[in-house]
Amino acid sequence: MSYSVSPIGFVRSCFKEKFAIPRQPQLAPAARGVLELLAPFDTGEAVQGLEQVSHVWLLFIFHQTLEDKPRLKVRPPRLGGNQSVGVFSTRATHRPNGIGQSVVKLDRVEAGRLWLSGIDLLDGTPVLDIKPYVPYADSVADAFNGIAAGAPPLIEVTWQPEALAQTREHGLRLGEPLVELIEQCLAQDPRPAYQIPLPERRYGARFWDVDVRWHYAHAGQIRVLEVMAIPS
Ligand code: SAM
Repeated sequence: MSYSVSPIGFVRSCFKEKFAIPRQPQLAPAARGVLELLAPFDTGEAVQGLEQVSHVWLLFIFHQTLEDKPRLKVRPPRLGGNQSVGVFSTRATHRPNGIGQSVVKLDRVEAGRLWLSGIDLLDGTPVLDIKPYVPYADSVADAFNGIAAGAPPLIEVTWQPEALAQTREHGLRLGEPLVELIEQCLAQDPRPAYQIPLPERRYGARFWDVDVRWHYAHAGQIRVLEVMAIPS
């Protein structure tokens, strides 16, 4: 038995590649995007009332990690990437039907678009459904999770002075909190857990239309080296 679903919209996100996207929403409040709704959901009727809601659940497709053969076990980064557990005990991207769910902040509602922040979604993510967050039902005070017990520990993020100046300029040009976005995402220590962060190793990721380069001054400290606009 199979069922077909189709997107109600697509996310235009600050994240242009998967690397350095936080593992869950809320971890980078400066991560912003816009959910562009498709017809017939773009006339305003379908979102009437959403202005009374602070957060929404987005159900979406991990469109860049879809696989034909479903995995039964995965190696979540939270366990160092070398311990395997059942796919249903994780929020892994490689999962049957490739469905993701994120609760994100709803900053503004317009007829055909929702302005979001605190997102963990790749640019172009197809969204299947929007549901209002219902605090009395969705937050469970005594819940626990032995695999992902808490938010990942943060590491320090420092700046090469000219990289900070470049970022401030690009942030003004974009009208985005770019310094905060980069700091919040890199503080999550995006490198694969098994990788030793040697100072000579360079890392990079694309946020909005800038390419950010960094290295690890030592295991607990990232230094942002350069932030350059990507020629369009
Ligand atoms: N909050 C969601 C959930 O619980 O289903 C996503 C959790 S998953 C661990 C978060 C990661 O999904 C991000 O770090 C990013 O690398 C990846 N991701 C986000 N959007 C994606 C997309 N459209 N296709 C594939 N991977 C995506």
